[in-house]
Amino acid sequence: MTKPVILTGLRANNNLTLGNYFGALLPIVELAHSRASEYQVNLFVPDLHSFTTPIDHSQLQAQIMHNARLFAAAGLPLDSSDILLYRQSYVPAHSELTWILDCFSGVGEMGRMIEYKDKSAKLGDDRVSVGLFNYPVLMAADILLYGAEYIPVGEDQRQHLEFARDIAERMNAKFGELFTVPRPLKDQVEFFGKGQALRIMDLADPTRKMSKSDDTGKGVIFLTDDPAEAAKKIMSATTDDKASVNYDPKEQPGISNLLQILALLTGETLGDVTERYIGQERYGDFKKVVAEEVQKFLSGFQERLNAVSDDVIYAAFERSERAASEQAGQTLYKVQQAVGLRPEV
Ligand code: AMP
Repeated sequence: MTKPVILTGLRANNNLTLGNYFGALLPIVELAHSRASEYQVNLFVPDLHSFTTPIDHSQLQAQIMHNARLFAAAGLPLDSSDILLYRQSYVPAHSELTWILDCFSGVGEMGRMIEYKDKSAKLGDDRVSVGLFNYPVLMAADILLYGAEYIPVGEDQRQHLEFARDIAERMNAKFGELFTVPRPLKDQVEFFGKGQALRIMDLADPTRKMSKSDDTGKGVIFLTDDPAEAAKKIMSATTDDKASVNYDPKEQPGISNLLQILALLTGETLGDVTERYIGQERYGDFKKVVAEEVQKFLSGFQERLNAVSDDVIYAAFERSERAASEQAGQTLYKVQQAVGLRPEV
């Protein structure tokens, strides 16, 4: 590991949304393009994380491939030695380090994780798995095996990043310098910039985030939506009765969201797009512009997705998993020596 490492995973158990695309997928791909010469960029498919809550296992293989294809369709270079695209479970060191770290992690600190509390409250005791409980330990292993310094984390993952830092420091204090400690949250925010704060809102209820877990799907645009149907969702998006287009997320959340979506789709700044439509009274005309852009984007994206060759994906997996196993294996061996599982030389 000669270069500093940026690491990120994107779980795709469900259909991804336009929010996932602009909030996670595209920033990752852009990062890979812009930073790969100075950094090693690790992108992984977190397959081991995918059944901490119950899933349909007959779909998992297809979802793993879909997940990788999405990266490719979004423009990820698959032939650069600075970019690793790997499946977590193909690098067994993730599971092995997790077990070791488990033995140095407290039941109390895991129980305090907000995501755990939220998800387990919804599931009920009998359905809460031990995997859901110690998911942050696996996430720490994902990071620490590669000495990753920068990890783009959404709001819900911040506490887990803090834990990865804590366990790294704890192990280093006990056994000497084993791990690179990931950068603190404020450095992460600085490094990844404003993209982290992006929030595309639900079209039907623009006061909440567009989310793939929405049951009705009415306010959500999925990347696999029929483009014409997606355009209809834009046309029926909730707006307001002010009859004047303006970017004002508090007073006009629906219109502001559409301005944001339009800016992202056309690659213009929010300011430029707002300036063009500000004061427009007929929301229908404005929505039509956004709907057409959404339709165009989805048609193009789906065409690229269908054109991705599985052979190319498998070749990228193979190359990356070899490199990742070697790097992760070195870290794991150091840890195994430190805890007495392997002889010191
Ligand atoms: P989730 O689908 O909630 O697991 O989110 C995965 C990642 O996608 C998040 O960490 C965000 O970076 C991004 N994301 C999800 N929904 C949105 C949204 N509505 N707007 C912007 N980014 C989003």
